Amino acid sequence: MNLASLTTLRVGGPARELIEADSEAALIDAVRAADADGTPLLVVGGGSNLLVADEGFDGVVVRDAREDVSLVNDGACGGLSITATAGTRWDRLVAQAVESEWSGFEALSGIPGSTGATPMQNVGAYGAEVKDLVAVIRTWDREAGSVRTLPLVKAEFGYRDSMLKRSMTHGPWGPTPRYVVLDVTFHTRMASLSAPVRYQQLATALDVELGARVPITEVREAVLALRSAKGMVLDPADHDTWSAGSFFTNPIVPDDAVPAGAPRYPAADGLVKTSAAWLIEHAGFSKGFAVAPDAPASLSTKHTLALTNRGDATAADIVALARAVRDGVRERFGISLVPEPVAVGLEI
Ligand SMILES: Cc1cc2nc3c(=O)[nH]c(=O)nc-3n(C[C@H](O)[C@H](O)[C@H](O)COP(=O)(O)OP(=O)(O)OC[C@H]3O[C@@H](n4cnc5c(N)ncnc54)[C@H](O)[C@@H]3O)c2cc1C
Repeated sequence: MNLASLTTLRVGGPARELIEADSEAALIDAVRAADADGTPLLVVGGGSNLLVADEGFDGVVVRDAREDVSLVNDGACGGLSITATAGTRWDRLVAQAVESEWSGFEALSGIPGSTGATPMQNVGAYGAEVKDLVAVIRTWDREAGSVRTLPLVKAEFGYRDSMLKRSMTHGPWGPTPRYVVLDVTFHTRMASLSAPVRYQQLATALDVELGARVPITEVREAVLALRSAKGMVLDPADHDTWSAGSFFTNPIVPDDAVPAGAPRYPAADGLVKTSAAWLIEHAGFSKGFAVAPDAPASLSTKHTLALTNRGDATAADIVALARAVRDGVRERFGISLVPEPVAVGLEI
């Protein structure tokens, strides 16, 4: 089985073994067995944030096949808690939330992948981040060999970052974190109106002021329309969506490193966040850019931040494109773009 068939970039060679876990016990057993005999482990969700080498992954790939969503507390004060198993498709949960008037999920509509992966990089879009909803993450702690419940504060969420993500680079755990997510509990409120709209483009699409609350169904529809126009909703017929979404994170740098005219948003520690898409475009890369006229990988024709497979690209083609863009931006602006997807068996 090639990992290309499990990833949205549709590249990646064979895995030694694939285990589909249909219970929590089976998921833990698979992880524990791999760790016990030192077999490399890749827990995969929707494969929408993975770039896997053409040589494949000489280890065990584990998928959580469970998709269970339960309302664990619909407290009389208006607060409610929802628990979803890691394998639950994120957008399926968002659709259910919008239908059930569980407010706060709506701006995160259309993000591919599994619920279990959302805390990894604190997924976010249109002014919302999953950290605004997460209450508790139940995990299998591979180091301790036991179930460990992480309250929100222990996840140490940042921009496209968390303690879980950082755990991949400390110790032997990567390309999966030390903490394998079993399920996630979210806390929110019942409301037919959305959380305040925090993103200008979304406010414009909805024809409201920033900070307004609108029916959550309208937010979901507007977000899905905006995302589709950028090739950010999976569509097998559209090669612009054969991607890992935004390939580079927005750089967080000292104010004086931001080129004149580039967007600036306040970030932690006196730094500022600028736009990776702006840097890419102003370094001379336009939509559809490819390293050669017939190259099978190119920037999306709808969005410069997505690297895409035009049909028969390999991981090497995606890497060549990523390097060309990263090096071009570095030469022009002195800023090193950082890839967002988890690289398996390769370096960019
Ligand atoms: C078209 C498109 C649009 C996108 N838009 C956005 C966006 O708007 N915002 C955004 O933040 N991201 C976006 N992404 C990126 C991606 O969808 C998210 O990062 C998503 O959360 C990845 O989930 P996944 O299940 O596909 O993870 P995978 O790609 O399967 O795995 C990614 C990493 O998470 C780990 N992982 C997976 N499941 C678990 C688990 N149960 N426990 C522990 N670790 C686990 C894997 O081991 C791996 O290290 C987009 C991607 C695409 C293709």
